[in-house]
Amino acid sequence: MKLFGTMEVKENTLYIGGVNTEELRKNYGTPLYVMDEVAIETQMQTFTTHFSSNTFESRVLYASKAFLNLYIAGLAKKNNLFIDVVSGGELFTVLRAGFNPKKIYFHGNNKTYDELNFAIEENVGTIILDNQYEYEMLNGLLNEKDKTQRVMVRVNPDIDTDTHKYIQTTKEDSKFGFNMYKDETMTFIKTLEADDRIDFVGIHCHIGSQIFDDASFYLEAKKMAEYAKQLKEALGREVEEINLGGGFGVYYTAGDTPLDLTEFLPKYTAHIESVFQEYGISPKIVSIEPGRSMVNNFGSTLYTVGAIKKMAEDLTFMLVDGGMNDNMRPAMYEAKYEAYLANKMNEAPSAHYKVAGKLCETGDVLIEDVQLPEAAPGDLLITPSTGAYAYSMSSNYNRMTRPAVVFVKDGETKVAVRRETYEDLIRNDEVME
Ligand SMILES: *Cc1c(COP(=O)(O)O)cnc(C)c1O
Repeated sequence: MKLFGTMEVKENTLYIGGVNTEELRKNYGTPLYVMDEVAIETQMQTFTTHFSSNTFESRVLYASKAFLNLYIAGLAKKNNLFIDVVSGGELFTVLRAGFNPKKIYFHGNNKTYDELNFAIEENVGTIILDNQYEYEMLNGLLNEKDKTQRVMVRVNPDIDTDTHKYIQTTKEDSKFGFNMYKDETMTFIKTLEADDRIDFVGIHCHIGSQIFDDASFYLEAKKMAEYAKQLKEALGREVEEINLGGGFGVYYTAGDTPLDLTEFLPKYTAHIESVFQEYGISPKIVSIEPGRSMVNNFGSTLYTVGAIKKMAEDLTFMLVDGGMNDNMRPAMYEAKYEAYLANKMNEAPSAHYKVAGKLCETGDVLIEDVQLPEAAPGDLLITPSTGAYAYSMSSNYNRMTRPAVVFVKDGETKVAVRRETYEDLIRNDEVME
């Protein structure tokens, strides 16, 4: 097993943050999301330390949709990160966590009137416009409130990344942003530039997710620099900020080869500096938006094994007490995970299991095939590397209560999100009279 962050094995049992996973089960139940606080803070610092330039101000925005609650927003704040949100709910959460509104970037490909209104009321630092309609609503709101707003535009450089099509975002047919190569986009930006209520500061793009190939990021930086040069010519001034998005790939299973951030980020920075020079531009600020790479490997999910069902010589189901409601990625895009028995860490793998959940869908399979020690009901299964897009995509399907989220550090455990109760499930329901 790849031991991420503070994971260690003691007496056949897995520990995270100095806490015994069996103790976690005993005290908080399963399924349970376990976040390694020291490792997450270290990762935040890895980003801010290694993405740093002498020629521009570098900003690291945590893409909060990967994993968001008050606790992680607090950690991002403590570590001097900026943060991006894509909905009113995410915005509300980070504001409640005490984030400085000026450090918030508001994304989203179809922000509603109410969300824009909320953002303006709260003086959110930067709004990234995705389409003309949003601009019209924004313009109306700013006039009404007699305010101005810092704005960027999401552009789409049409880069083919080697990732699953559901998480590719800049192909021509993607729903996000403005095509960089269409005249309308430049016309739109000129409209913004002429609007006194809008402080147009620059361009943003995000080329997709789970990208391992550094060449994609270098190409992206080049295309953005090229576009910034065109803007400089068209507007007669420099753009102030270029936001290059996130998408840095992470390890899930053998064969995944993530970029080594301490090596890649300085190279990336140098590359950005050199393409800026090549195109004769000098934006003051360059930002990146890691989501998955900030948290994924530092979060795990614990499950209790229930029934073990042998269906055929080569097919044995291991059924766990959660499933697609706490991690929908395998069902949604065939995402792969590893699993281990956290209470049998030193036993040799000797059996194959198909790990499935307890939800009423044939597709509720967490892992197609995993080799584990001989398992029995009551064992403690862990799926590591579920820090990103598991909790944040969780649902109440089958009226499952969402698991608790705990942060572990130096032998101590803090509940960041308490486990939902049955009462929570009907909290907003009305009784039929
Ligand atoms: C999802 C998203 C990110 C983060 O992507 P990761 O793959 O999690 O790093 C960053 N920026 C935008 C605009 C996004 O939509």
